[in-house]
Amino acid sequence: MLGLFTNKNEGCNLPFLCWQCEMSAPGGCGSHGESKGVCGKDATKSRLQDLITYGLRGLSAYREHARELIEKHGNEEEHKTLKEIDDVIAQSLYFTLTNVNFNFNEHISQLMKVGEAGVKVMDLLSSLHTKALGIPTPTKVTQNKAEGKGILVSGHNLDMLEKLLKRIEERGLSDKINVYTHSEMLPAHGYPHLKKYKNLKGNIGKAWFDQTDIFSKWNGTCVVNTNCIVPPEKSPKVKNYIDRLYTYKIVGIEGAKKIENDNFDPLIDHTLELPDITGFDSDEKIVTGHHYKTVLDAYGEKVLNAIKEGKLKRVWVIAGCDAPGKKRNYYRELALALPKDHIIITSSCGKFRFNDIDFGVVPGTDIPRYIDLGQCNDSNGAVHIALAVANALGVEDVNNLPVSIALMWMEQKAIIILLALLSLGIKDIFIGPSAPQFANEEIINFLVKNFNLGVISGDIHKDFSKELVS
Ligand code: SF4
Ligand code: SF4
Repeated sequence: MLGLFTNKNEGCNLPFLCWQCEMSAPGGCGSHGESKGVCGKDATKSRLQDLITYGLRGLSAYREHARELIEKHGNEEEHKTLKEIDDVIAQSLYFTLTNVNFNFNEHISQLMKVGEAGVKVMDLLSSLHTKALGIPTPTKVTQNKAEGKGILVSGHNLDMLEKLLKRIEERGLSDKINVYTHSEMLPAHGYPHLKKYKNLKGNIGKAWFDQTDIFSKWNGTCVVNTNCIVPPEKSPKVKNYIDRLYTYKIVGIEGAKKIENDNFDPLIDHTLELPDITGFDSDEKIVTGHHYKTVLDAYGEKVLNAIKEGKLKRVWVIAGCDAPGKKRNYYRELALALPKDHIIITSSCGKFRFNDIDFGVVPGTDIPRYIDLGQCNDSNGAVHIALAVANALGVEDVNNLPVSIALMWMEQKAIIILLALLSLGIKDIFIGPSAPQFANEEIINFLVKNFNLGVISGDIHKDFSKELVS
């Protein structure tokens, strides 16, 4: 594996910059190119502390979704796990306080603690979702087809979607208002307790950043219930729909309406006043709903046999966040280049780069070649599948399985997922399409030496010359 970072902080010539405390040099420590702050903090520790806080942001988002569900129907064990996660958040923030720690190895060990909490929070969230909504099963979803009065819901909060569907049903409006998903809401269609609402119709659009195009064409109302929302400053198109845009809980932008105290009536009433949806009449279909429990249940034995019989040669995890730009076409190119005896496991909104493709099944089996585990917080499923396969095959180290990992990172939820994988000792991960600017050479060397972490080069054959063979 090539596994080398090539981008050495292009675009930022300062080794570091810190305004954290009163001792800050004029303009901020590091603003004149110093390699150390007044307190003695060096660039590497500063960047590692930034990385800890980025991981904590992703962790906090998942933690908040878990808390909402635990409040509704959590048990003692789940409360305990939430408390353990909270302790890591508090301790890690304390760790980054001025003049607390200047030890490199202890920074790494704190990062791993954040990663371990990431594993816990994803497992917790996954089991809370399945407890509340059932275990997802593979489901074909209409894409870009809509009719009637419509609400388009974007984000990760499945609990909010269920409450909305329930309220529409309570008001006897299920045959008048249809609900559609956008971006990370797509996996909602796989959950049995959501599927039972016949007015949860289909998916519209792709990853989060097409929302300005899609929402401005949508005649109905739109809701964004978590990150990633696009503010008006980033697109003049937001003006076209800001009066039809609703936000939920922590999400907010100027001009949009807030859903207060889970009162969905203003949103529902507003939707009834708007014209029927037009302009979405595609025949496309996409598939979602391969929760890891369903995969292990339905295909576990078959996957093992297919590996033993040489019918299934390699598993690819191609997942992560989508973002604007052509660089991520790399992941589509990669998915298309895989031999037929390779399968793809995916999650998060990066899947929209290739989920329109019909990958079929592994020849000689009925194992689907495309497996959508769900939202970004469902990325833990890939680890559960790998561990189950390793265990069944008697492979001690999961890194010895024929698995290749190519991740897209965009924001801090992707960072906590990466830290979670590293904390589990998963190696040989390729990230991209850009090298993280927060990593300097010392951090990069550490990651390459200990985890063989790499950044994609843009050329799939260069990065995966050995793996892209049948
Ligand atoms: S924490 Fe250290 S590096 Fe940061 S501003 Fe204070 S003295 Fe400077
Ligand atoms: S996967 Fe990442 S980029 Fe995509 S919607 Fe979720 S948090 Fe945002």
